[in-house]
Amino acid sequence: MTNLGWDDKADVVVIGGGGAGLRAGLAAATAGAKTIVLEKTGDPGGKTAMSIGIMTASGTSVQKAAGVKDSHARHLADVVAMAKEAGTKINVTSTKFMMRACSAELENLIALGVKFSGPHPEGPHGTPRMHVVQPDCRHLVDVLVRAAAKKRVDIRLNTPGAELILDYKGRIAGVRADSKDGPCFIEAGAVVLAAGDYSANRAMVERVAPNLKLAIPLRDFATGDGHRMAMRIGAKTQNMARINLPQLRFMDFPFVEPSPGLVAAGARLVTKIGARIKTKLAESILMPGFEDRWEEIFIVVDAATAAKLAKPSDDVGPGRDGWALTGKPFIGTAPEVGYAYLEDCRAWDWHFEAPSITAAARHIGCKPADLAASLAKNSKGPFHVLGPTRRVITNSGGGVATNEKTNVLAEDGRVIKGLYGAGVNARLISFMGGHGYALAWAMASGNIAGAGAARFAGKQN
Ligand SMILES: Cc1cc2nc3c(=O)[nH]c(=O)nc-3n(C[C@H](O)[C@H](O)[C@H](O)COP(=O)(O)OP(=O)(O)OC[C@H]3O[C@@H](n4cnc5c(N)ncnc54)[C@H](O)[C@@H]3O)c2cc1C
Repeated sequence: MTNLGWDDKADVVVIGGGGAGLRAGLAAATAGAKTIVLEKTGDPGGKTAMSIGIMTASGTSVQKAAGVKDSHARHLADVVAMAKEAGTKINVTSTKFMMRACSAELENLIALGVKFSGPHPEGPHGTPRMHVVQPDCRHLVDVLVRAAAKKRVDIRLNTPGAELILDYKGRIAGVRADSKDGPCFIEAGAVVLAAGDYSANRAMVERVAPNLKLAIPLRDFATGDGHRMAMRIGAKTQNMARINLPQLRFMDFPFVEPSPGLVAAGARLVTKIGARIKTKLAESILMPGFEDRWEEIFIVVDAATAAKLAKPSDDVGPGRDGWALTGKPFIGTAPEVGYAYLEDCRAWDWHFEAPSITAAARHIGCKPADLAASLAKNSKGPFHVLGPTRRVITNSGGGVATNEKTNVLAEDGRVIKGLYGAGVNARLISFMGGHGYALAWAMASGNIAGAGAARFAGKQN
């Protein structure tokens, strides 16, 4: 490597200190590379720390311990069937690769000290494959930060990566980072892009998905900086028009998406002035994709409705399966338990139990008479007030194109030497079917990218 007035030097620089970036930093340092992780905000973790923690995987030790027989072949058959149902073609080789990598990564995380509940059922998968981080993804981030610190990874907070620097051969030479002291030019043997998604970059979203009417993004740090930096040096992108449809989510941790079954069971959706949202509209609001109603909404569950919801005593196991066995609604997929029942919500700030309509109205901030008019006739307490919720965009799904080794590809398909992509910043395949792959792939791709970057940097020295 040449020195053209660099301020700093590392074997591997990772841009983004969310789940994929921390995992990449840990993998690079474990392979012996001097590693810097640049994080734009004041805290590591990104959206990973906010995640419910679902990882979909097959043939795992968690499944074996629970007596669940599964294999990658069965898993692949389920994904192929889901793709057929969705009218989508899949790349079987890459899907297989990703499935194996995600399942192996779950075991790596267990070895690092991460615990999982489950496996929980998750249709249309024919076998319970839902593994959920315990107690939640803030712990997952803690585990990664502590493991990275042990390997002397230099995690620099409030230090956004701003620009990728190439040498005269078109290989990655370093990164410009912007700290509070001004720009810092870091010479690097290899760089991993792990700067998350672009749902908060309105200009980028309007350009790639002009027909999308947007709800508010969940977090404003998701400005697609990694996508922008990569595109500027000629990287190929794919699926950029794929932005998650707006979803109703609780606005405090855990950011649960309430289940559509709640309205059919009798739960009422009300605005913050206590006005009822009528059943048909309420059902639409609980489905992803509905784009109006961006104001705060509360969900009110009276005693008669609570009796119709799934309870822990409905579970037979393994995992949370009572809702699936009885057909009774759950509140939403949630950290630790997989599927939250009303009882689980008591632990969270967005749950309030009110003995009377007056107390429920006081909590919402509306007039008791208005709330009473929005509830069923003769509605009896206790009332569970869940909220506020808002319709938000949680993520975008397009990324910088990579191969299975996570090398970033240029527009013409060649590898951009020294540049790797991980997490939602990058994209290997377009369809997996069901959820629980974004987090698993963030971890797996971070591991692959970090190790690959360390190897590449080692060869340059
Ligand atoms: C509420 C919620 C629940 C979810 N639940 C699940 C789930 O249960 N299962 C699942 O599979 N997926 C889930 N997801 C999606 C999944 O969590 C994410 O796709 C995944 O964790 C993304 O990891 P990442 O490291 O790529 O991005 P992030 O974790 O968002 O990390 C990106 C990091 O890069 C930083 N950054 C941005 N720009 C720069 C820059 N210029 N320089 C330096 N740093 C920068 C950001 O500040 C951030 O810390 C959920 C997402 C949300 C929002």
